[in-house]
Amino acid sequence: MQELTHYINGAHVKGTSGRFADVYNPAIGEIVARVPLASADELNQAVATASAAQPAWAAVNPQRRARVMMKFVDLLNQNMDKLAEALSREHGKTLPDAAGDVQRGLEVVEYCIAAPQMLKGEFTDSAGPGIDMYSMKQPLGVTAGITPFNFPAMIPMWMFAPAIACGNAFILKPSERDPSVPLMLAELMEEAGLPKGILQVVNGDKEAVDAILDHDVIQSVGFVGSTPIAEYIYGKGCSNGKRVQCFGGAKNHMIIMPDADMDQAADALVGAGYGAAGERCMAISVAVPVGDETADRLIEKLIPRVEALKVGPYTAGKDVDYGPVVTAAAKANIERLVQTGIDQGAKLVVDGRDFKLQGYEDGFFVGAHLFDHATKDMDIYKTEIFGPVLTTVRAQTYEEAIGLAMDHEYGNGTAIFTRDGDTARDFANRINIGMVGINVPIPVPLAYHTFGGWKKSVFGDLNQHGPDAFKFYTRTKTVTSRWPSGIKEGGEFSIPVME
Ligand code: NAD
Repeated sequence: MQELTHYINGAHVKGTSGRFADVYNPAIGEIVARVPLASADELNQAVATASAAQPAWAAVNPQRRARVMMKFVDLLNQNMDKLAEALSREHGKTLPDAAGDVQRGLEVVEYCIAAPQMLKGEFTDSAGPGIDMYSMKQPLGVTAGITPFNFPAMIPMWMFAPAIACGNAFILKPSERDPSVPLMLAELMEEAGLPKGILQVVNGDKEAVDAILDHDVIQSVGFVGSTPIAEYIYGKGCSNGKRVQCFGGAKNHMIIMPDADMDQAADALVGAGYGAAGERCMAISVAVPVGDETADRLIEKLIPRVEALKVGPYTAGKDVDYGPVVTAAAKANIERLVQTGIDQGAKLVVDGRDFKLQGYEDGFFVGAHLFDHATKDMDIYKTEIFGPVLTTVRAQTYEEAIGLAMDHEYGNGTAIFTRDGDTARDFANRINIGMVGINVPIPVPLAYHTFGGWKKSVFGDLNQHGPDAFKFYTRTKTVTSRWPSGIKEGGEFSIPVME
């Protein structure tokens, strides 16, 4: 069986802690590799290497740093098939979806080619007599990121590309479920010209995460994953004096107004609800049709579409709509939540419980489920299921529908399907959720905007990618200068003011 490594100081390094996690191919349910789980000592070695390498990297001018990003984009394109295959093998998502995972990361790398422009400072000439004032955006030093299993290419790139373009060193602690692609990305960054020690991958679990949070040299921590862990990392990281941004879980509602094109809405819901087996933080997991007549029409259109979904292994290429979920534990959790939905009185109108795939009986496949007549108090509504389960909650009015989304504890994404501009505009203005789609079911902003939810889907101030990333990975220093010709004789004893 393959034994994976860490990637430290430009080399694959075996784990020394003696602890490992199993990495599965979820389509066949078999262990394909084991990944080392770092001790604090191993993490500390990576930090020492990063700390030694970072000042020289910060001194490389931003244009040259951007050229590494340009070359990295080329290499990502050249290696797209290889990356997608490795990603699908450990995650389970389809090959086209895996290529999309790489592509949405690549687009943030492209954005980071603008580093010279983004890092320009500010200058005030003659701020006082003979005084000039300028502000610089300087890198933080050694930064770190902790990433989830569901986007093993995109989310690491969302973090390390801006961090590195800004002149920082970055230590990535990827998910232990699918660690191969992050290791490949680190190799490709070095092939693109990145000096050793600037991007390192330390595989691990809570022990490595705690070592990151406790290390004095690490200046910032980015996290994407579930809300309880986001909350923990945010609290501990902030109390240790670090700059921290944490992105958590979601329960994304799509509101379907009576005037919506019902075929378009149903198509959007199957893609957004069941794509990637529902393992997306921007998946739509709650459909909220407004009015019983709308609900009846929607459900009638949804049932055949959900029943026709093709579930299979990534090796089937484009012939499958979604693959297995990531682990046997994830599958068991989804099945448990489906049972609570039935027990608590929701109507299971498409029942995927008996789904079996011939030849893949040990794979972690979950059939598509569709609930109707769910209510606010049910577990399937309150909890992030992270599986191919779409829950319908019927609302009688638009106010009731928007109220549902507003009252939910999560606030990552949401969508409204309508032909009415006024309603769409009102929805976009009032909703307390970070990313809003109008007739767009998964409104993930492009690289040059920023990504982030509200409420319990986020802890911290700045979003991911876009201009916020350049703020998160730099700090401002402001210099006030005066040369001898501007200096008055004698001491000044009161605070200088501009009268
Ligand atoms: P997770 O929280 O289990 O794991 C995320 C990371 O935290 C992993 O690297 C893991 O090793 C580490 N971790 C796990 N337990 C830990 C602990 N007790 N202490 C310290 N670190 C720990 O999340 P996941 O299952 O990998 O990913 C799915 C979750 O991520 C979902 O909730 C999904 O909504 C969320 N997600 C959110 C966004 C977003 O941008 N808001 C994007 C993608 C995924």
